[in-house]
Amino acid sequence: NTAPLKQAHELIKDKEETSSMNTQKKVLVAGGAGFLGTTLCMALHKLGYHVIIVDNFYTGRHENIAELLKHPDVELITHDITLPLDVNTDIIFNLACPASPPHYQKDPIFTTKTSVIGTLNLLELARKNNARFIQASTSEVYGDPAEHPQTESYRGSVNPIGIRACYDEGKRCAESLCFDFHRMHNVDIKVMRIFNTYGPHMDPADGRVVSNFIMQALAQEPITIYGSGKQTRSFCYVDDLIEGMIALMLSPVGVTGPINLGNPDEYTLLQLAGLISSITGSSSELVFKPLPSDDPCRRMPDISQAAQQLNWQPSTSLERGLTKTIAYFAAEMRRTALAKSTVVDQPQPTL
Ligand code: NAD
Ligand code: UDP
Repeated sequence: NTAPLKQAHELIKDKEETSSMNTQKKVLVAGGAGFLGTTLCMALHKLGYHVIIVDNFYTGRHENIAELLKHPDVELITHDITLPLDVNTDIIFNLACPASPPHYQKDPIFTTKTSVIGTLNLLELARKNNARFIQASTSEVYGDPAEHPQTESYRGSVNPIGIRACYDEGKRCAESLCFDFHRMHNVDIKVMRIFNTYGPHMDPADGRVVSNFIMQALAQEPITIYGSGKQTRSFCYVDDLIEGMIALMLSPVGVTGPINLGNPDEYTLLQLAGLISSITGSSSELVFKPLPSDDPCRRMPDISQAAQQLNWQPSTSLERGLTKTIAYFAAEMRRTALAKSTVVDQPQPTL
């Protein structure tokens, strides 16, 4: 699908600021072998940038980037961002952090270190290189939100001692580091708060709801609903999100965010399961499991800031995005024949 890239090309052409931009500039993508990182690196490469992927493969996959690495202007540095890094670069995207609850809860101390120490190391690198720094923050900074939809001015409701805190508080601290580097050292920062995104290049064993439901439906296994299934999420198709990320990257100095990026169409999980069953033609039954603690009841972005400042909004309906994602997972299943063993069930609450 080249439509988003075409639009990004137009964006580059349109932006005054980038008229002098050499598209051979170097962009470092930390977390570049993960789900979003892979798609972002593919887009940046197509736009003509030199791409430096930095990843420790905690949740990233070599097969995601194998094709990309065949190009001479794409390089891989296998590195853990909790350790300092010295590379020449013009732009840094920090996407490095496990994003799926089972993965970020597996070693919560390492998750906090990745968000806090990792972001600190990359901000130091940005300062040294005078590079633009774009931070992948998250809707999780709003916790289990008391305001709906969530605007950027809402300060959130996070349980600082719960099982999600390693991720939520880590990302909140990372945001605060970004703004302190901006205020103290004039680093050119941009913070995006990403809402639930899905699409090709997600790991079938990732453990998040979209990949779990699709893999279960395709395997004719029971679909696992945590809690009542009446909790909501707003799901964004990956190509839409990547367009938003590139629009933010190309935005003028001073557009710091934080800025919500996501699709404001809100669905209950029961609706999501129904849609996936109908597209796959699956007859999987629903099984209900306990709701993990601190699981947000509802979530939906207010994207008026992104619309105003970036002229961005998503355009892919959930049905269309799921259809493409299901085709990807079906192909992955055929390729790896992993149908039975891929779904990672969420750890149960411990608090
Ligand atoms: P992912 O787990 O697929 O990718 C994360 C990548 O970071 C992986 O390649 C992993 O190996 C790498 N990584 C983790 N710790 C690292 C470390 N210490 N050093 C180097 N690399 C490390 O997740 P994703 O869905 O692609 O998410 C990417 C970023 O976007 C994350 O920061 C996540 O918090 C943020 N985000 C994603 C979503 C979403 O819905 N996908 C929503 C909100 C925020
Ligand atoms: N969920 C579910 N079944 C699954 C995986 C997740 O019902 O197999 C629920 C989960 O409890 C949450 C929602 O789906 O309410 C979204 O979960 P996900 O892990 O994808 O993202 P997050 O909770 O971080 O938004």
